[in-house]
Amino acid sequence: MADATVEVNHDVCIVSGMCASLAPEIFDIDDDGTTLEVLQPSVGGELIDQAVGAEACCPVSAIKVTMQ
Ligand code: SF4
Repeated sequence: MADATVEVNHDVCIVSGMCASLAPEIFDIDDDGTTLEVLQPSVGGELIDQAVGAEACCPVSAIKVTMQ
């Protein structure tokens, strides 16, 4: 099964939390709400759909999902 890589451009991320709401297994915001962390930089299966959905919904296009 194909995998995908998930990258976030932290220079443009505004830590809106949208991706963490849509895909909490992949994205997390730290406790003080200032930093987005990519929990799974490589995903497979249904998590690919979640990653792509988050990519589409990011308000500043900071997420890049690349199929391997
Ligand atoms: S949706 Fe985009 S701007 Fe919002 S936290 Fe995720 S990467 Fe950052």
